[in-house]
Amino acid sequence: MKKYDVIVIGAGPAGLVTGITVKKYYSEKSVLILTQEKGGLVPCGIPYIFNKLNSVDADRMGPKSFVDLGGEVIVDTATDVNMDHKVVYGKSGDTYGYEKLVFATGSQPAKAFFIKGHDLENVFYIRKSYQYIQDLYIQLQDKQNIVIVGGGFIGAEVAEQLAVDEKKNVTLIESESQCFSKAFSKELSKIATEQLRHTHVNVLTSSLVKEIRGAKNKVEKVLLQSGEEIPADAVILSVGYKSNTELAVKAGLPLNVMGAIKVDSYERTSVKDVCAVGDCSQTIGFLTGRSDHIMLASTATAEARVLGFNLFGIKIKKNFKGTIAVFSTQINGFTMASAGINENTGKDANVDFLTAEYTDIDRHPGTIPGASPLTVRLNFSPCDGAILGAEVWGSSSAAEIINTLSLAIQKYTTVFELISFQIGTHPLLTGAPTKPVIIKAAEIAIGMLRNVGK
Ligand SMILES: Cc1cc2nc3c(=O)[nH]c(=O)nc-3n(C[C@H](O)[C@H](O)[C@H](O)COP(=O)(O)OP(=O)(O)OC[C@H]3O[C@@H](n4cnc5c(N)ncnc54)[C@H](O)[C@@H]3O)c2cc1C
Repeated sequence: MKKYDVIVIGAGPAGLVTGITVKKYYSEKSVLILTQEKGGLVPCGIPYIFNKLNSVDADRMGPKSFVDLGGEVIVDTATDVNMDHKVVYGKSGDTYGYEKLVFATGSQPAKAFFIKGHDLENVFYIRKSYQYIQDLYIQLQDKQNIVIVGGGFIGAEVAEQLAVDEKKNVTLIESESQCFSKAFSKELSKIATEQLRHTHVNVLTSSLVKEIRGAKNKVEKVLLQSGEEIPADAVILSVGYKSNTELAVKAGLPLNVMGAIKVDSYERTSVKDVCAVGDCSQTIGFLTGRSDHIMLASTATAEARVLGFNLFGIKIKKNFKGTIAVFSTQINGFTMASAGINENTGKDANVDFLTAEYTDIDRHPGTIPGASPLTVRLNFSPCDGAILGAEVWGSSSAAEIINTLSLAIQKYTTVFELISFQIGTHPLLTGAPTKPVIIKAAEIAIGMLRNVGK
């Protein structure tokens, strides 16, 4: 049996970044990544396979950067782990010894067992698997009536992309009154749902699926609680993801209340030399301090970097303090982004905050061709003005502005500090230096704070 300094199970974003970081900073260490599939997909790119990329291969993601650094990759599914003897058992029959073990087994779509007919032919999920998505891509080519169940960001992005083909009738069914309600505040969810309605997607909100019906085992229609029937040649169930922890549980690792592998802020489990990162591992909210169910590639890779640096002794004391859940998407060419707490997550965790908002044009002068409105919303503490959350929407600049605000949240920046925030501007690239959106929103926030307690 070959023994490695590090074995990583899983070659998704978390597994790859862990492997790359370890090899970069501890080049003398032998690192093996075990993966179920030869080559994978950029998970966040999957919705765009169905139109913008119009190819499965254009979305491929592989371990090249890791291999170039001297890492080894073996296609073999880990079926068992003996943590006492430090051995991983592969489906192939091979065994692999380790000094340090990292679970990066990710997540899988939650099965909709509660929907009658979920097991009919032509009922699909958005699985992060090259083979599965290739099959789905081919299967959907000739399907005219496609029903997607679940209006979270994955269901909505897939629906938007499929509906670009005007020959297809794409219906999205969401049980909440708006789509994106888990990712965004009420107002931004409403804007996002409206944007989706401006595409060719038939969006049905506040609608519950009663049953998927078919004949000869093949899907024919989706029946709603309201009695409405929607013809369907294919149904895609997008009702959430759950941590893939079967192997960890079998090995004897404890899970948290969300069903994720328990880890500390350096991604270490309670078993010496065994760690877990990414969607399979526990996530704590940065501001709420409570277990969260955030599954994002940005969170997974941040955890992986922290782990990679610190695997052989704590080198970077800045450990992973919890997820800021920074996220962006684009529907109908309209960009929406969010970080930190909003009215749903904040109220849920009893976090007190005020909200200030500012809208302006994203170029200057505003007459520059292509200029479009951009709104920044800051959620800040009424006690000290610290920024606790933000939403940005409008032009595509929103996606990078939210990343700046994510750093502000992470550094406990206050709205007072934003007044001296120095920004670079250019007519073709940003809003005017006289009224930068972030700073103007901070000024409004300061005005509000002055009135607190009056
Ligand atoms: C359609 C879609 C769009 C998304 N868009 C975004 C986005 O825009 N922004 C964002 O931040 N996040 C997005 N996400 C979420 C993001 O993809 C996940 O958070 C990310 O994939 C988590 O990475 P991971 O490495 O932890 O897990 P995974 O990507 O799930 O990878 C885990 C890997 O481990 C392998 N594995 C599991 N068990 C074993 C085993 N026993 N042996 C060997 N290998 C094993 C699996 O095959 C898999 O390759 C999106 C997700 C989907 C599905």
